[in-house]
Amino acid sequence: MEEAELEALVSARRAAASRRDELAAELASIEASRQDSNADDEHDPEGSTLAYEHARVASLAARAEHELAELDAALARLGSGGRDECESCGAPIPPERRAALPSTRRCVGCATAGVRPDATAPPSAPPGRRRR
Ligand SMILES: [Zn+2]
Repeated sequence: MEEAELEALVSARRAAASRRDELAAELASIEASRQDSNADDEHDPEGSTLAYEHARVASLAARAEHELAELDAALARLGSGGRDECESCGAPIPPERRAALPSTRRCVGCATAGVRPDATAPPSAPPGRRRR
């Protein structure tokens, strides 16, 4: 089923790339309006809206960029055959999970337990609290 997976990854990558491009264009247009309008954001209601909008779109663009990088990495792993195993525990990642989350590197257990080898998220919820 490698071919179907590859296709899912490629189309997810294409979607992420076009979202990134749209956000970049939006960001550029916000930057252009900011330059046109009063530079004093604090006293110009429209200026502060633009500043907020700029921050919002910039963060979405950064996320899209990150997702794109993850998908690229997933594509590279698919090519090297290393995508089947969880990066944290080495357990096989089920194909359904890979289909639903093409860029995933961890099995469901590790992902829900909050095991993060890249440590990007703050340790807000201890794993023990997730039990029912
Ligand atoms: Zn795992």
